[in-house]
Amino acid sequence: PWKMKQPEVNIGVVGHVDHGKTTLVQALTGIWTAKHSEELKRGMTIRLGYADGNIAYCENLEPPEAYTTEQICPDGSESKLLRRVSYVDAPGHEALMATMLSGAALMDGALLVIAANEPCPQPQTLEHFVALDIIGVRNLVIVQNKIDVVSKERALENYREIKKFVKGTWAENAPIIPVSALHKANIDALLQAMQEEIPTPKRDLSKPPLMYVARSFDVNKPGTRPEDLKGGVIGGSLMQGVLRVGDEIEIRPGIRVPIGGGKGRYRYEPIISEVVSLKFGNLSVEEAKPGGLLAIGTKLDPSLTKSDALIGNIVGKPGHLPPVTTHIKARYKLLQRVVGMKEMIQTKPISRGEVVVITAGTAIRVGIVRNVTSDTIEINLRDPIVAWEGSRIAISRRVLGRWRLAGWGIVEE
Ligand code: GDP
Ligand code: 5GP
Repeated sequence: PWKMKQPEVNIGVVGHVDHGKTTLVQALTGIWTAKHSEELKRGMTIRLGYADGNIAYCENLEPPEAYTTEQICPDGSESKLLRRVSYVDAPGHEALMATMLSGAALMDGALLVIAANEPCPQPQTLEHFVALDIIGVRNLVIVQNKIDVVSKERALENYREIKKFVKGTWAENAPIIPVSALHKANIDALLQAMQEEIPTPKRDLSKPPLMYVARSFDVNKPGTRPEDLKGGVIGGSLMQGVLRVGDEIEIRPGIRVPIGGGKGRYRYEPIISEVVSLKFGNLSVEEAKPGGLLAIGTKLDPSLTKSDALIGNIVGKPGHLPPVTTHIKARYKLLQRVVGMKEMIQTKPISRGEVVVITAGTAIRVGIVRNVTSDTIEINLRDPIVAWEGSRIAISRRVLGRWRLAGWGIVEE
């Protein structure tokens, strides 16, 4: 039987709303990740969904049929487990670009899902595509979905639309795999393309561990007796290093602590705690490496971690974390057009005093532009982030009443 191990690679699933991202993750993992539409109706903030799946190989078959997500092959023999994968399912709703961008920070590669029954590109197809480029996700497989509801002619026409859409871009040679996520058709060919196009990155295990926090939880059921309470749980993905049960960890910028004087004033205080447990989904491990969405059980008061309160923090070894700052200076570039809308709008230059939203890793922060030239920008943030020279930020601006992805920068100091 397969020896269960942690996922080794994170693959984002992006694309326009209703193009079939959630259905595809279900086809690849058997897990229904998202309750986005219900959450939206209840007005909740939308979080990243994720689910772990397998890529396996049946030695008695030829590719692509040899690729499977199942342990047992059609002839009854056992498949060989090639990789475990965490699929990160970013919401496609247009208001949630910041969430998609913070999720993209965790992606080693991506599946861009495009429904064959609509003209390509739809607004979020383009917006997510640009976002992948900005965050630096370059290993891409294009999934042409809903092939079961279109004629052969329309499928070919849509294929040409996709080809035209990526022509001349970094993704020009990305494979386009036609599937029906709903009927699980051609998933084997998609698995093969993922094996070929989205390799597991080389990880530096000798560096001190560093993790972006993408979720945080209070895992206690209401009514749990105080002596049975579990400490706060922090979810995210290790970028480097190894984390073990028993390790001491530091979380930065940390938690908001009110300070005296002005009403509503506060500062951030780093937190120190200990790793009590490590989980990938249901799999408990003693030692975690990069790859996969990791849940760290800690000794923290669960009220500090409940409802995603620690999103945007960084976890590491005490004394080995990058600096915390409220002032960012970056070299930046603006997109020529505002993406994510039906209308084509030219971008105006950024002005001093403008309010922007920046995404750095999983952190989403509001800031005011203090200085700007055609290629450098200085931003004062309301709340601190962990940033270092060379780290990437995405810049969003308010256009016609919504936050839109507008450009990107590389932090200078
Ligand atoms: P998301 O918003 O991108 O996550 O899209 P969903 O996975 O929620 O899919 C949106 C709708 O499209 C649902 O009603 C799905 O059942 C349907 N759908 C997804 N994939 C397919 C497919 O391959 N064929 C057909 N016919 N419908 C699909
Ligand atoms: P839920 O609240 O949905 O049960 O769990 C939320 C997340 O916390 C899941 O990712 C789950 O794996 C993780 N989790 C739940 N209990 C524990 C625990 O005792 N230790 C660790 N490390 N993670 C946990």
